[in-house]
Amino acid sequence: MSGIRITNLRKTFGNYTALRGIDLQVPNGTLLALLGPSGCGKSTTLQLLAGFEAPTEGEIWADDVLLSSPRGVLPPEKRGISLVFQNYAVWPHKTVAENVAFGLTIRRLPKAELTERLDRALRTVRLESLRDRYPSELSGGQQQRVALARALVVEPAILLLDEPLSNLDAHLREEMRFEIRQVHDLLGITTVYVTHDQSEALVTADRVAVMKSGAVQQFGSPEDVFERP
Ligand code: ADP
Ligand code: ADP
Repeated sequence: MSGIRITNLRKTFGNYTALRGIDLQVPNGTLLALLGPSGCGKSTTLQLLAGFEAPTEGEIWADDVLLSSPRGVLPPEKRGISLVFQNYAVWPHKTVAENVAFGLTIRRLPKAELTERLDRALRTVRLESLRDRYPSELSGGQQQRVALARALVVEPAILLLDEPLSNLDAHLREEMRFEIRQVHDLLGITTVYVTHDQSEALVTADRVAVMKSGAVQQFGSPEDVFERP
């Protein structure tokens, strides 16, 4: 696991400035919610964290490893980062276990370790009993747990969640909030969680960064951020 340090992060697209100098510290093991309205720069921040693009200015560090700067980007597969997107994208023709194991097949792991890691990931999201089912036989919440298990099975140092619950109905969304909080309490992986939903941030996060127009407006514990006018 590692903590994340973001310094003076700027990102421009042509002459549009999406991020105008973000500074953030995410201590090791923290779940940080990035909260704010559509277009404020949450996804851009996450894409820079994932290493899909280089910043225009500024740096991203994981402990003492420089992940990103305008001079270069450590590629996604070397950053120790896993992502879960809102479109959970599980493969319909693969079983739950095959979906989750996919992240490991490109690594040359001994069979025993592969099995152990797969079982552990399925146990973490409580999908062991559904391991041989196909996604079409699962609820939306279960499918999202498959996506979460697939992100966890590689044992990432950092987990990025981009509006992971936004395609679920209200009831499942509520249930999955607690699921994500529980998984975080269990594993303690440093996590950045993008949401536009204040109550979601309140329930899941240790720290909240409220973004507006490409900048961080407020930063603190959920209680600090939400109780001030
Ligand atoms: P959020 O995730 O908070 O909704 P985004 O980070 O997706 O916000 O977008 C911030 C702003 O940057 C938006 O106005 C968006 O249109 C713009 N933007 C994001 N990515 C690109 C891109 N690749 N090219 C041009 N503009 C972009
Ligand atoms: P979100 O729903 O998470 O805010 P969006 O739907 O705004 O994300 O954007 C989805 C993807 O499209 C992101 O990768 C973002 O960088 C990119 N994007 C957003 N706005 C633009 C834009 N104006 N031009 C090009 N790409 C964009």
